[in-house]
Amino acid sequence: MILSMDEIEIKLVANPYSVYVGTGWMELLPPFVEGQARVPVVSDRNVWRLYGEGLKNSEEVYGLPELVPVLIQPGESHKNMKTLEKIFAAFAENELDRSGCVLAFGGGVVGDIAGFAAACWMRGVRYIQIPTTLLAMVDSSVGGKTAIDIQAGKNLVGAFHQPSLVLANPALLRTLPPLEFQSGMAEVIKTAVLSSEELCAGILSMEPGVVDPELECVIRACVRFKGDVVAQDEHEGGLRKILNFGHTFGHAIEAKYGFKKYTHGQAVAAGMRIAARYGEGCGISEKGISSRIEALLKRHGLLIEEDAVDLIPWIRNDKKTHGEAIDLVLLKYIGEPVVIPTPFSELERTLKKMFKK
Ligand code: ADP
Ligand code: ZN
Repeated sequence: MILSMDEIEIKLVANPYSVYVGTGWMELLPPFVEGQARVPVVSDRNVWRLYGEGLKNSEEVYGLPELVPVLIQPGESHKNMKTLEKIFAAFAENELDRSGCVLAFGGGVVGDIAGFAAACWMRGVRYIQIPTTLLAMVDSSVGGKTAIDIQAGKNLVGAFHQPSLVLANPALLRTLPPLEFQSGMAEVIKTAVLSSEELCAGILSMEPGVVDPELECVIRACVRFKGDVVAQDEHEGGLRKILNFGHTFGHAIEAKYGFKKYTHGQAVAAGMRIAARYGEGCGISEKGISSRIEALLKRHGLLIEEDAVDLIPWIRNDKKTHGEAIDLVLLKYIGEPVVIPTPFSELERTLKKMFKK
């Protein structure tokens, strides 16, 4: 019997899959790895040290094939070609064939690189996401974006490759460093303001940094929202762009500080603050929206002030820019995002006017 688990269906036409949030999920694995002699489990050294033994125990409990750890160094700086090569070598060594399946057991870094390795291996093998960070549970493990970083930029080499299954156990978040937890909360807040008043209210009343049933409900709501968006726009042709709320400014902030000062989530939090003020300042957003978003950010220790005008050159370098314009995601109301194609010249003028020092 499966306890405390809700199935969330990601209704993609070609390759639908399910996300399970809760405990007791390992018993869903066997049919996905049936007939495989060994299953490569891409994970990072921290995650494996904490949870590797537990995962290995499920071999016997659920009659799984041998789970072979393919361990990478933790951190975004290792999401690169060199690590990818090592993963491929491990796939070869374990005779992973076209019918095989790979597990991605870790945070966003592991999910991105393992997913990309699976997308490339023999032109694509199946993979299962077992996210262990809040960010990965609510954001990166759902939607099929996989990538590695190269010198020229983050996530520049990648593919859309949907997982076959996502198993998220919030109990694993108890060991997550506070900063990583907070970083994930930024994506939670992003999802909440894009989706509904109800979710925003839940996030405002949540106990910050605590893993409890309320957090589990919030994770489910975030996955459901992202899943619906992705199902409507798998390859980011339109609607999916809304998920970039706060990210244009956030990416610029990350780049400005050489990806060192802030985590991705913190940068996105600072970016959402700018986007909210921008939306309100140019009359697109309902009055008061920026102070409401700031209250959510503050509650979770994410009220971060960054100068908006300084970001202009960094925004111009964003890979999402096309020609002389950028798609800005703004909020009309909570739960009602709009994508506004904005020429750089206009963006620059408005930012200077609104955020003059
Ligand atoms: P993100 O999901 O934010 O992209 P990463 O994959 O870089 O994050 O993981 C962030 C850090 O947290 C890494 O050092 C990773 O090893 C560690 N980590 C991941 N999951 C857990 C966990 N459940 N408990 C403790 N540390 C974890
Ligand atoms: Zn993000």
